[in-house]
Amino acid sequence: MKKVLLLKFGELFLKGRNRHDFINQLKTNIVKKLAAFKCRLEETQGRLVLSGYDVECEDEIISKLQEVFGLIAVADALEFETSLENIKQHVMEMDFEGVKSFKVSSKRADKSFPLTSMQLDAQLGEALLENWQNLKVNLYSPEKIVYVEVRTNGKTYLYDNLISCAGGLPLGTAGKAMLLLSGGIDSPVAGFLMSKRGLKLEAVHFHSYPYTSVQAKEKVIELAKQISKYCGEIKLHIVSFTEIQERIHKNCDAEYMITIMRRIMMRIAERLCQQNECGAIVTGESLGQVASQTMQSMNVTNDVVSLPVFRPVIAYDKEEIMFVAKKIGTFETSILPYEDCCTVFLPKNPVIRPTIKRAELLEQSLNVDALVQQAISNEEILIVNTY
Ligand code: ATP
Ligand code: MG
Repeated sequence: MKKVLLLKFGELFLKGRNRHDFINQLKTNIVKKLAAFKCRLEETQGRLVLSGYDVECEDEIISKLQEVFGLIAVADALEFETSLENIKQHVMEMDFEGVKSFKVSSKRADKSFPLTSMQLDAQLGEALLENWQNLKVNLYSPEKIVYVEVRTNGKTYLYDNLISCAGGLPLGTAGKAMLLLSGGIDSPVAGFLMSKRGLKLEAVHFHSYPYTSVQAKEKVIELAKQISKYCGEIKLHIVSFTEIQERIHKNCDAEYMITIMRRIMMRIAERLCQQNECGAIVTGESLGQVASQTMQSMNVTNDVVSLPVFRPVIAYDKEEIMFVAKKIGTFETSILPYEDCCTVFLPKNPVIRPTIKRAELLEQSLNVDALVQQAISNEEILIVNTY
């Protein structure tokens, strides 16, 4: 008998032919995540089993596993040789002190085991009822569920806890995208959510030093580090937007300032995507949150790029975005009061329904291609990795 962690993955079952690649990627990611710990990871149909670790590190290992996309839950389990006798013995040793209701949930993958799952549920249930006074069976909302998994590898796994994990799909199974990372609340959440669907991330941040401070840049680096726990290594492109903003400010209508800024950000992001094998752009926009996030505004900014633009928080309320930000630990950093480049020269009345035609006309007074080129050639690159 030994203590193990049983790792459960969900949606991977749906992936048919690709299933193997997904599981291999998940295993690679888990091994990377737990590089600092001595442990062994094994696969037995539909389950990953982690063993051989120092029990004192168990909590720390579980916290790390909760940051691995593709895992839905971890169970702290006992593994032993399959036999009805062994199963009964270990179930009877479980602690039911103070527990009023329970149910047994058995799964028999090993069809050579003499009892069906239902028969096993019944036998174990009866034995427990005999042993513990005041204990009742409750199939619908039991206080405790005894899970028994009889696997085909000759082993049975027994547990009564399921610790939920991040879910999603393994990092690296969906390609790579470029996140527009500001210092705000929304874009780190957007990066997290897309990465949860298996995307690796690079990020681009635009600053307007000296209009924006060094701390504003530090804050973004800190945010990148925080999401890197989940999203893996992030190549962070730090691009100066100062000259671009000054030019727009001088040459374009104030009400179109943000629209044109956004279009240039998108062009730079797309160029960086091409240079770095990213197949999509990710932003933290939410419909109607501000003037630049209306449907018309997004249409005008999308018009300058041909890659898909993913906006995972488009339908989220601010409250919902904040909820995720708190859960993933970016909120406190995001609310630090340093200005973003979008707040520099901010017009009083940004246009709510811009048009592509007008934006194109205003851009004629700028040498957009040269500005994009110059911004990229002066970029600063940082590799962030806290995975
Ligand atoms: P956030 O909380 O992500 O800053 P926001 O509500 O402040 O979003 P905006 O400032 O309108 O909204 O920005 C919308 C999106 O544009 C951001 O979510 C981000 O993806 C991108 N963006 C804005 N400013 C920058 C910047 N300085 N560098 C990189 N991307 C930016
Ligand atoms: Mg912002």
